Amino acid sequence: MQLSKKIKNITPSQTLAITAKSRELKAQGVDVISLGAGEPDFNTPDEIIEKTYQALKEGHTKYTAASGVPELKEAISKKMKMDHDLQYDTSEIFVGSGAKHVLYNIFQATLNPGDEVLIPTPYWVSYTEQVKLAEGKPVIMHTDESTSFKMTPEILQRHVTDRTRMLLLNSPSNPSGMVYTEDELQALADYLEETDIIVVADEIYEKLVYDNVHISIASMSDKMKQNTIIVNGVSKSHAMTGWRIGYACGDRDLMKAMTDLTTHSTSNPATPSQWAAVAAYEMEESYLVEYNNTFRERRDKAYSKLMELPYITCIKPEGAFYLFPNFKECAVKCGFDSVDDFVAQLLEEQHVAVVPGSGFGSPDNIRLSYSLSAEDMEKALERIKKFIAQHA
Ligand code: PLP
Repeated sequence: MQLSKKIKNITPSQTLAITAKSRELKAQGVDVISLGAGEPDFNTPDEIIEKTYQALKEGHTKYTAASGVPELKEAISKKMKMDHDLQYDTSEIFVGSGAKHVLYNIFQATLNPGDEVLIPTPYWVSYTEQVKLAEGKPVIMHTDESTSFKMTPEILQRHVTDRTRMLLLNSPSNPSGMVYTEDELQALADYLEETDIIVVADEIYEKLVYDNVHISIASMSDKMKQNTIIVNGVSKSHAMTGWRIGYACGDRDLMKAMTDLTTHSTSNPATPSQWAAVAAYEMEESYLVEYNNTFRERRDKAYSKLMELPYITCIKPEGAFYLFPNFKECAVKCGFDSVDDFVAQLLEEQHVAVVPGSGFGSPDNIRLSYSLSAEDMEKALERIKKFIAQHA
């Protein structure tokens, strides 16, 4: 079959590839421990499931408006006001089938061929591929441990050209777990306010922060609100990855354009899932305290155990559920040419699946998800330790 140039130009998601490979090994009876998970390991809260069942019984089983039901948009508007003191009218909100779908629509609706999109490393794997699919040009900005994987105004300025249209800002970050502070956001905003660069603020992990609070760059000033498109959803905050509900808040014309696009592609996000998201935002946030305590405890344990490994450095993450250690020296000491080779052999020999940083634009690092029990994490780190001892 002759495939399109567009599709030949994209790289399949490495995160999903690792998950698939470890599932395959598990199906063969191999005792694989996967640190590749990109989703909370909890079930969706019962209250949400029960309210969705009620909604189904009440007949919410039909098509809805392509950009989501008004009740959900109202709930999102209320949430934005409460969390960030940001006022969005329902016409400034677009609901899609997961944050990934929403991001896809944003690029399709805004980019013209050759428009540049600034993407700091380490980046979530789909940004670059989605920009390419919209015929935009991803411009990669390298960051590393020296700035705690955060972009500074200096790094940003160095990459801006007259073709720059957009900047991607993902805080808390997948994969580094870094959370921008208010001062850091202010410094970026001071520069961005003088430009017309549109900020796509991916805030999907906003509720998973352990030492700090998440602040939205859109709340820094009126100008920043005007130039920012917030992307969020219930996938990570409410353990609802399978329900596929995400949304964007921002410019009304863009929301309308995304809606028009959706009427010819997916139509509305699944109706029962929209009502599930309404239930999620009606729920008391107290459930989050327990949820976050569990993640914080797991992070602390995993981090201190990880730091016992030789030849490894790691910045302590403050949010999401990932550790992003640097394995460059370790891979070299173990006789591997690259961290990718180290990762492949680790899965072969010790049956531990991790995601190589190369897929995130940071080839010296690996991503370890702590969205699994502390016992399994400890076992996995023991196996990594054994692997290093056998090779170094
Ligand atoms: N943005 C980031 C940074 C993510 O890590 C993910 C999911 O892994 C998404 C967006 C997509 O979320 P959703 O499941 O709502 O499509």
